[in-house]
Amino acid sequence: MQFDKNDEPAGARADIRSLTHGQLLSILEELGQPKFRAKQIEEWIWSKNAHGFDEMSNLPKSLRETLSERVSLGAAKELARQVSGDGSRKYLLRFPDGVSVECVGMPGRGRLAVCASSQAGCAMGCAFCATGAAGLTRSLTSAEIYEQVMHVRDDFNERVTSVVLMGQGEPFMNYDATMAALRRLNSPEGAGIGARHLTVSTCGVIPMIKRFANEPEQFTLAVSLHSAVQKTRDALMPGVRKYSLLHLYDIMGEYVNKTGRRPTYEYALIRGVNDSEEELASLCDFCRGNLAHVNIIQLNNVKGSRFQPASAERAQDFVRRLSAVGVEATVRNSRGADIDAACGQLKQNMDGAQRG
Ligand code: SAH
Ligand code: SF4
Repeated sequence: MQFDKNDEPAGARADIRSLTHGQLLSILEELGQPKFRAKQIEEWIWSKNAHGFDEMSNLPKSLRETLSERVSLGAAKELARQVSGDGSRKYLLRFPDGVSVECVGMPGRGRLAVCASSQAGCAMGCAFCATGAAGLTRSLTSAEIYEQVMHVRDDFNERVTSVVLMGQGEPFMNYDATMAALRRLNSPEGAGIGARHLTVSTCGVIPMIKRFANEPEQFTLAVSLHSAVQKTRDALMPGVRKYSLLHLYDIMGEYVNKTGRRPTYEYALIRGVNDSEEELASLCDFCRGNLAHVNIIQLNNVKGSRFQPASAERAQDFVRRLSAVGVEATVRNSRGADIDAACGQLKQNMDGAQRG
């Protein structure tokens, strides 16, 4: 069997992107190389998103060869893509160990927004989510989270202006890698994206929301609420059953006090489940008087799911009623709806295609 570079077994050599600056320096020192090589190499791997050592044209050829024997540069491979009528592109990327995730690029008026994954699969088991149905394969490394964004940048050949971690996975169950990726995306030596334009979406892992509140950067937080009625939320989101809504409410108050930043609450409207008057009243109570923005999302269809989206009129009712009690709310326009941009779906379809 022949392997190409991307198919080499993982773990044989350390990935160069997993090395700290200090570790890279000591490898270069061992190889008798001057210190400035580290900066050159880092520029290739982070800012230029090089896919191999042979691209590093300002390094001596012998150093490129020695490096490739010493460490790997396991670039992701694009397995599939779907292009939407609205210009969005959804990619299925495979990492060297065979694990794949999806990400989406959404262009518009001088902007390029990227939706990236933080894990392959997810262990949280939300009832309406395609990723949740498949369980967790593994968490991604910070380099793998970062690389999705750079893949989209290179494909569009445009600067990425914002990133949301709303693809597959729960970022706060992979906290350290998520934070490292955000910092690299924020850094001028990385992607140089402003912290406020980097958003983490969590299903509500309370201890990590607390930690996040203490981070020095101005990253943006989105919390998937989906119901402000305990019984409904427990049924929809079993993975966060142990964190009560009351506790979430308190922690979010602390988050706002500490950071002064406005969190977003995600609320996918599901017909007959969380779109009743009682649900709307509870949502208003949860948000009223607090710094909050509510995103009402049209539920994306998930194959085989028992849930149906609520009507567009009902979504407007929610927005109106929230506004009436002073809560900023919008209906999120669903980008790439024609390419199954719901979390987890491309992967699902591809897996089906590979099996068939
Ligand atoms: N695990 C994190 C981030 C990834 S999910 C979280 O849950 O917040 C990103 C967003 O997509 C979340 O708000 C999630 O609730 C939402 N989502 C999942 N399945 C969906 C579906 N079928 N339709 C609409 N939104 C969905
Ligand atoms: Fe995981 Fe988020 Fe999907 Fe829930 S909605 S299963 S937390 S990816």
